[in-house]
Amino acid sequence: AAKYAEADFRKLINWKEGAPVPYKLLADTFEEIAETTKRLEIVALLVSAFRAILATNPKDLLPAIYLCVNRVAPAHTGIELGIGEATLIKALCEATGKNEASIKKAYETNGDLGVVAVGAKSTQRMMCPPPPLTIAGVLKAFQNIAQASGSKSQDQKRGMIVKLLVAAKGNEPGYIVRSLQAKLRIGLAEQSVLVALAHAVHLHREGVKDRDGRLAERLEAAAQVVKQAYSECPTYDVLVPALLENGSTDLLSRCHFMPGVPVKPMLAKATNGVSEVLEKFTDQEFTVEYKYDGERAQVHVLDSGKTVHIFSRNAENNTPKYPDIVARLRGLLQPHVQSIVFDSEAVAYDPEKKKILPFQVLSTRARKDVNVGEIKVQVVLFAFDCLYLNGESMLHKPLTERRAALYSALIEKEGELQYASYKTSRNVEELENFLTESVEAGTEGLIVKTLADTYEPSKRSSHWLKLKKDYMEGVGDTFDVVPLGGFFGKGKRTGVFGAYLLGIYDPDTESYQTISKLGTGFSEEQLTALADSMRPHIIQQPRPYYKWSENLVPDVWFDAVAVWEVKAADLSISPVHKAAVGLVDPSKGISIRFPRLIRVRDDKSPEDATSAAQVVDMYRSQAVIKQQQAAKQKEQ
Ligand code: ATP
Repeated sequence: AAKYAEADFRKLINWKEGAPVPYKLLADTFEEIAETTKRLEIVALLVSAFRAILATNPKDLLPAIYLCVNRVAPAHTGIELGIGEATLIKALCEATGKNEASIKKAYETNGDLGVVAVGAKSTQRMMCPPPPLTIAGVLKAFQNIAQASGSKSQDQKRGMIVKLLVAAKGNEPGYIVRSLQAKLRIGLAEQSVLVALAHAVHLHREGVKDRDGRLAERLEAAAQVVKQAYSECPTYDVLVPALLENGSTDLLSRCHFMPGVPVKPMLAKATNGVSEVLEKFTDQEFTVEYKYDGERAQVHVLDSGKTVHIFSRNAENNTPKYPDIVARLRGLLQPHVQSIVFDSEAVAYDPEKKKILPFQVLSTRARKDVNVGEIKVQVVLFAFDCLYLNGESMLHKPLTERRAALYSALIEKEGELQYASYKTSRNVEELENFLTESVEAGTEGLIVKTLADTYEPSKRSSHWLKLKKDYMEGVGDTFDVVPLGGFFGKGKRTGVFGAYLLGIYDPDTESYQTISKLGTGFSEEQLTALADSMRPHIIQQPRPYYKWSENLVPDVWFDAVAVWEVKAADLSISPVHKAAVGLVDPSKGISIRFPRLIRVRDDKSPEDATSAAQVVDMYRSQAVIKQQQAAKQKEQ
């Protein structure tokens, strides 16, 4: 609060009240944010910018928020930026009159097209410069670019990009280009944007004067409410107007879970075995469910089944992938159900053998424009949670009630819609047996869930614990890693990559940090397929947001585009790798040993890779196990 009292946001306002706020305000703020890693400072910088917007033209706050989080629409709409380099380079040439070879050369040298754009524009002189870019204007242009479709769309997109670049001045072209690539990457986490939004609106409405010495407390409360509202209703189109209308007081009654807008799913933490579960949940009642190996499906059913949306783990609209599920759902609702949102796993199914099939089979299904008549892989939904029923949100109810609601609402049908198998017991032997049974049934193991807790959207919660058969080996879980570089193969592997440099993602610093080198366990076909999939993503320079060591430099670098699931032997502090650097050891990172590829995770984006915090959790829990094992050996 003290920071805000000093921060003279008014100095940022040098334009007329009611006028559209210039994009320069954001570009300058981005530049300052990129120079610091201190979260409080980042929030303070944003708060100043947002307050300046609120004091001038509050309508511009919503577009400013979208530009800060580098999106143009809510995730579930599927409207996204992500313009390719080739288009941007062409547009840059057109906008600046530079030739393609010189732009490409500059890009090869520094690896950041944003920097190239600023450089190219800085030497350009214009007779009659166009009017300055505005926040609202830039977002509108981004939305039009993202939505352009049809045969001429490439030219149209390029035309719109050229227009933006012609008008961009100073540092603006850099942020325009990086935003268009969907790689703004200034170290601005979405959580900081939410906190700044809450603080700015509060200060705008109530002033900065700390009349009763409790301003800091009120700001913190406002931030909590805004974060909660966004986790239940992840669309700024609803959140920002609701906040502007009446502040954060009773925000949750105006901005809450609604069918049609998917919440980010609740996720589970890893554990190392039944005894760890019993230790963690000494005083809590829990239940264990099969952890099916398929694809998460958050199913939204409206109008008694007339409208069905199916959303993926990442809030993508998967409805076109599952017309068979959509068609069957109406017949699987109990008569009293008008609307329901349930959480489930879609799993491939063999109707003849009446058996579930591995994830690999599910992944052979087409993703788009699926025709019901041509479907070869049947899918069964295993329902395990209820988020909403007949107009009422269930998110705040305990699992016991959510499960009862789920069981009251759906009609089970073998091979089409089934409830997840579960057991409620505290007996070690029973739990071990259930784990073995689950693996024999073709699942990944179990998820242990506390019965009294609520649904926590977008959280990797300690109220859900994963228990896989091979957890006993000590590592606890597989890792979802991003291939960041490739090493050329030798001998039999000439022509493909013989090994890959792997990284994890740290959302706090928005960086990819190396964790291991993967070089064994591939079949020949796999080596070819992986090389084919990665070759188009070779980049000349590592991205500025890659953290790696000069002691392990790959032959080529890749753009962070893919997620691979790997299994590893153990985790150790590493002088070479950078995963979770600074979190366990001040200068060293953590690495995993002997990684083996399990599968390519098409359902995850690189930012969903294993996080630095998860690596730390696994490292610590492995250390505990090692200590326990050592103590046991001593006793013997
Ligand atoms: P994983 O690689 O294990 O799928 P993840 O990060 O996608 O990791 P986790 O938190 O590890 O997700 O595990 C939760 C996932 O397990 C869910 O997203 C869901 O797809 C799947 N799942 C299968 N069965 C269940 C169940 N009974 N309850 C909850 N999730 C389940």
